[in-house]
Amino acid sequence: MFEALSSRLNGVFDKLRRRGALSEADVNEALREVRIALLEADVALPVARDLINKVRERAVGAEVIRSVSPAQQVIKIVNDALVEALGGGEGIEAPGLDLNAPAPVPILMVGLQGSGKTTTSGKIALRLRTREKKKVLLASLDVQRPAAQLQLQTLANQTGVTSLPIIPGQTPLEIAARAMDTARRELYDVVILDTAGRLSIDDALMDEVAAVKAATRPHQTLLVVDAMTGQDAVNTARNFQDRVGVNGIVMTRVDGDARGGAALSMRAVTGAPIRLLGAGEKLDALEDFHPSRIAGRILGMGDIVSLVERAAETIDRDEAEKLAAKMQKGQFDLEDFASQLKQVGKMGNLSGILGMLPGLGAMKDKIANAKIDDGMIGRQAAIISSMTRKERKNPDIIKASRKKRIATGAGVTVQDVNRLLKQFDDMSAMMKRMNKLGQKGLMRGGLG
Ligand code: GDP
Repeated sequence: MFEALSSRLNGVFDKLRRRGALSEADVNEALREVRIALLEADVALPVARDLINKVRERAVGAEVIRSVSPAQQVIKIVNDALVEALGGGEGIEAPGLDLNAPAPVPILMVGLQGSGKTTTSGKIALRLRTREKKKVLLASLDVQRPAAQLQLQTLANQTGVTSLPIIPGQTPLEIAARAMDTARRELYDVVILDTAGRLSIDDALMDEVAAVKAATRPHQTLLVVDAMTGQDAVNTARNFQDRVGVNGIVMTRVDGDARGGAALSMRAVTGAPIRLLGAGEKLDALEDFHPSRIAGRILGMGDIVSLVERAAETIDRDEAEKLAAKMQKGQFDLEDFASQLKQVGKMGNLSGILGMLPGLGAMKDKIANAKIDDGMIGRQAAIISSMTRKERKNPDIIKASRKKRIATGAGVTVQDVNRLLKQFDDMSAMMKRMNKLGQKGLMRGGLG
C-alpha cells in the first residue's frame, strides 16, 4: 500500500530539495503536486483539500521560505499533516483495541461480505489469547451463509480459542444473547461477535446489525473494510457510521497494492480511528495502526520500527534489536543482510516487508525489475554463504576473481553476484542517508 503515493511525493520533495532557496511560488507548485498525488492515491477530495490548506497555512506561518532548510521544513509540515489525517498527533502512538470495560467485553465485527471480517475475528482472537492472555469466545451470527458458522469454528480451532457451539435455526439475536450468557457464566474476558455481511449495503443488513448492536451494547464496534476497494471503502464506512455507529476501523489487504487514499480519508470522513491493519491471509498478519509510522512510510522514510517489531516476533528479540541498531547506525554488513534474508521467509509476505524498508520509494523499480521471489531469496542466501567471513564484513574487497569463486560456489552467474552486491550497496546508501536525516532531527515523527 502507499507505494505509488510514496514515490510521487518523493519526486516532488526531491525537486524541492534541489532548489535550495525556495520562493513562495515553488512551495505552491510543490503543494499543487502533492494535492494531485493525494487525489491519485484515492484520498477523498475534501480531505486532500484540507490537508493542503493546512500545510500551506503552516508553511506561511513558519516562514519556511526564509529558513535554513526550507525543503525539509515543508516535508516536516507535510509529515505532521499526514500524521493528523491518519488520526495521530502529540501523544497518540497507536489507538489499538480498546478493551477497557468490565468483562466479558463484547466486540462486534461488522462490514461487507468478503472484507475479511471472519479472518480478522480470528486474528484478533489469536492476538488477544497469545499476547494478552485473554480468554476469548468467538461467535458467528452469520445465518445467511450456510458455511459461515463452520468457517469461524475452524478458525477458532486453528487459533486455540473457543467458539460458541452451533445451534441450527437460531436467529442472530438469539446467538448473540447465548454468546453473552455463556461468556458471563464461563468467565470469558472478551466475546467477538462476527456478523453477517452482504455484497453491498442494504437495509436488511443494517437493521440486523443495528439490532444486534442494541442488544449486546458492544464496547468496540469494529468495521472491517478492504483497502483494495479505495473510495468505496470510505463510502461503506460512512454508511456504517451513519446507520450503525462504529468506534473503530480495521483495514484489510494492506498487503496488496491498494493506493492507500482510503486510510488517509477514513478518520476525516467517519471520525473513527483505524485501529488495526490486516496484512495477509495468515492469522498472525495483524498489525497495530501507527499514524506516525505510516506517514513515515508514505514519505519514504521506511517503517523501521514496525519492521523490527515484526522481525522480533519471528526472530529472537536480541538479534532483532541488534539488527535495528545496526540499521539505524548505518553499520549493516552482508552477514546482517544474509540473516535478514533468512528471516524474510519466516516473516511472510515479502512485498509488505520491503515496503517498510527505508528508501523503498527510490528502490522500488529496481526491486520490481529484479523480480524478488522466494527462489531469489534462496539464491541470494547461497551467494552470501559462499563468501568468506572477511568478504561479508567488507564487501569492497570482492573483485573479479573473488566474484567468480563465489558464483561457482553458489551455482549462480557472476551477474547474480554483482546484482546482490549492488542491492546491498543501494540499501546501505539508503540507510546512511536516512541516518543522516535522523541525526539532523528531521522527521523524527516519521520514524516513530
Ligand atoms: P468476510 O466475508 O468479511 O468474513 O471475509 P473473510 O474473512 O472470509 O475473507 C475473505 C478472503 O479475504 C479470505 O480469502 C481471506 O483469506 C482474505 N483476507 C482477509 N484478510 C486479508 C488480508 O489482510 N490480506 C489478504 N491478502 N487477504 C485477506
